[in-house]
Formats: sequence, C-alpha cells, structure tokens
Amino acid sequence: MTSFSDLGLAQEILRAVSEHGYTTPTPIQLQAIPAVLTGQDLLAGAQTGTGKTAGFTLPLLQRLISLSAEAGINQRPAATSIRALILTPTRELAAQVEESVRTYGKYLPLSSGVIFGGVGINPQIKLLKNGVDTLVATPGRLLDHISQGTIDLSHVKILVLDEADRMLDMGFIRDIKKILALLPGKRQNLLFSATFSTEIKDLADKLLNSPAMIEVARRNSTVEVISQKIHPVDRDRKHPLLAHLIKTLNWSQVLVFTRTKHGANKLVEQLEKAGISSMAIHGNKSQSARTKALAEFKDGRLQVLVATDIAARGIDIDQLPHVVNYDLPNVPEDYVHRIGRTGRAGAGGEAISLVCVDELRLLADIEKFIKRKIISEVVVGFEPDLNAKPQPIQLRSQGHHPSSRSGTSSGQRRSPTVPGNKSAPRRTSLGQGTPGAVSTNPSRPYAGSAPSTTSRRSSSGNRGRG
Ligand code: AMP
Repeated sequence: MTSFSDLGLAQEILRAVSEHGYTTPTPIQLQAIPAVLTGQDLLAGAQTGTGKTAGFTLPLLQRLISLSAEAGINQRPAATSIRALILTPTRELAAQVEESVRTYGKYLPLSSGVIFGGVGINPQIKLLKNGVDTLVATPGRLLDHISQGTIDLSHVKILVLDEADRMLDMGFIRDIKKILALLPGKRQNLLFSATFSTEIKDLADKLLNSPAMIEVARRNSTVEVISQKIHPVDRDRKHPLLAHLIKTLNWSQVLVFTRTKHGANKLVEQLEKAGISSMAIHGNKSQSARTKALAEFKDGRLQVLVATDIAARGIDIDQLPHVVNYDLPNVPEDYVHRIGRTGRAGAGGEAISLVCVDELRLLADIEKFIKRKIISEVVVGFEPDLNAKPQPIQLRSQGHHPSSRSGTSSGQRRSPTVPGNKSAPRRTSLGQGTPGAVSTNPSRPYAGSAPSTTSRRSSSGNRGRG
C-alpha cells in the first residue's frame, strides 16, 4: 500500500502529517500529490470530506520549499507579496484551510496567513506587510486589500481555487476574474471542484494549461457508510419531535440543517426552551459568534449546532454521529453535502430527515439523485395527519454571503416556491425502528418516498445556475 513517504514529500512534512495522525493517503491525496509536485496545472473533482485539503496543501508546501531550493536561497516573500494563494468561498473554509497549512507546515520555515471579511482589516494589513508564503483568502476581502494596495500578487507562484463550484454558485466569478488578471502569467494553477457545470468548464479552460485531471468518487456514490432515515411528521410538530429524539436517544453532538436563517434562529429558541443547548451558525451571525459556536460544538460543550447550507459548507468536524435535516434542502446535491458531515473519513454516522407533507417532492428529487429509497419510520406520538394538505415551501434567500460584498445567495438561483406533492403518498419498504424511541408503522404515509415522477430537477450533478 502506498504511504505518504512514497509520495515525494520532505521529512518535515511527513513528520507533521504523521503527528497529525494520518497514516494512509486518501485516494485524492494519492493522485493529487504526485500531480502537483510535477509543477503542472491540475483539475480535480473532489468533494469536501475526501481529504482534498491535504491533497493540495501538502504538495503546495513541498513546491514552495523546492522553489526556494531551486533559487539557491532560503527565499523569503518580498514585502506585501505572497508566493501561494488559496481562494475559498467561505470564511470558515478559509480558516480551516489555513489551519491545515500551519499544521502540515509546522516544521518548515514558511509563513502562512488567512484573510476574510467580517473582521477588522488592520491586523491583516500588518500580516501582509512582511509578505506571506501561503495566503488563504476569500475573494471579497482579497479585493479590498488589492484596492488599498496592501497586497502584491505579482509574485504568486501557485494558485489554488478550492470549492470552485461553490464560489461560482455564490456569485464570485467577477471577483475571481479581477484577481486572476493581477497574477503573473507564469504560475501553477490548481482547481478543485465537487461538480463540473458549464461555468466550471469555461473557467478551467481559461485558467488551466494542459492540466492533469483527476476525479475521486462522488459523495453520492460513497454515502453507503451513512445510515439514512426519514421521520414523517407534521410541519408544526418538527421541533417537539427533534427535542424528543435528542432527549430519548441521548444525542450529544447533533448538526441540524434548516432552510433559512430565520428558521435556524427560531429552532434554537425552541430547543433552548426544551432545555437543549444549541446555537445557530449562519451568514447574519458575526464572525466571532460563528467561531464561538463552532468551537463549543467541536469540544462537546454545545449539544446542537443549527446551520444553513452555506454556513455549514466550511465546517469540518470528524465523525459527527448525527446530522438532522430539519428541513429538506432545495437542491439534492445539498442533501449529499449535508449528510457528508457524518461518516467522514470512513467512520459511520446517522442522517435523519424530518419530512412534512410539503416536502415530498424534494424527497423524491433527493431519492432520484442518490439512486435509492430512504427508509421511513414514524415516531410514536408524532404520527402525521393523513389528511394534511401540502403548502408551498418558501425558498427564501439566504441573504448575502458572509465573505461576499456583492455576492448573490444560493437561494437566488432557485425558483421562489416549490408546490407540495398533490398525489397521494405511496407506501414502500419500511426499515428497522430506532431502539427505545421509534417504531415503524406500515400504515403511515411517506414510507419509502414520494412518487419519483414529480421530480423537478435533473440529477446530472451539475450545479450551474438556471
Ligand atoms: P477534507 O476533504 O480536506 O475536508 O478532509 C476531510 C477530513 O478527512 C478532515 O477531517 C481531515 O482531517 C481528514 N483526513 C484528510 N486526510 C486524511 C488521511 N490521509 N487520513 C485520515 N484522515 C484524513
């Protein structure tokens, strides 16, 4: 079996990787590390959870020390200049990527830094003053520095676009183009994207020069380790059901997804009333509130973290035992991203979706996308009203993205409402009851799923707008 030491990385990097607890490279790392080390451009299809961050960070650090060695000196970045630039869509992801750069580069004489919006610019100006080897940035704040003349991009040797599809989804294409125009012509470009829409292909065509191309298994083919289940429930009984599940099943670390920021705040209030410690993480929260919520959740002080899709994008928590879809997402890919928060790096996990009659069409879209029916279990005491009429779902905008100054929200690329499924629910297979709290009930609706003929969206995997 190939190990990290077979991949051409310096001892200092191998030592940091080993101390971090990694023994075996993931498939994306096995492919990306040698490709990046050749110095050529790279187009990589990989989602979060695959180990992609180390996949580009490790060879990037190696390249920087090799480039210094080639220059025959211990090359330091010139004042305000940087040598490697990593662009990410969100603040959280930027912070996490920089943490990885620091972790893996701890035995190397290389500096790193991170810049994003929502926090003071002065400490960042100070950071940039002496130059930085590896800078991780969100596009909006990077442009602020460019316009203030506090950063010099003319020495960039390596550019990484991480989660490029998400950056385009969030309306960053113009910002990215402005940034690209300021980079030197001779550089190495790495583009990581979970999906390949026409826009991503266009960007790759313009940006990359004879790239190596690699792709690892998409999440929707690797979600087998995650146990998935739906609990049919009336729309106004979702929060008591969630509180019931958390309490009776003693869930200690639960990530809950809501469709809107308002929904996230409301749910936190309801859970707190039920005596469950919870916090919301979304674009309207200050950076310090988000960092605090995430830190408390990670170290187990906070039982429930409630997040919207965009806010959750950069969250990296290993082996999260429970993910709950309080609302089903509007786009099937987001379901896969959400449940990917559990069962990471090979560990199992449980993904529960609370589904009301309004969401049957969304459920059908998801099942079509993941190519399987999700087990349905009715929780005793929370049986849904069989005569309930579906109501339109308000797909409200998630507002401006935290790291975007003028970014469009993901909500804006979607249709304003989804009508509920008019046809009667079909009964299909039922699964095992959750011990102690849940029993299956074959006479209940939503079993299996809604009819797949109502699917509105293609399941091609492309995330292009429109
Ligand atoms: P990423 O896709 O970069 O967000 O990484 C997903 C998760 O996998 C992170 O929690 C990493 O710490 C973890 N990870 C990355 N590479 C490895 C590895 N080679 N062995 C074990 N875990 C890893």
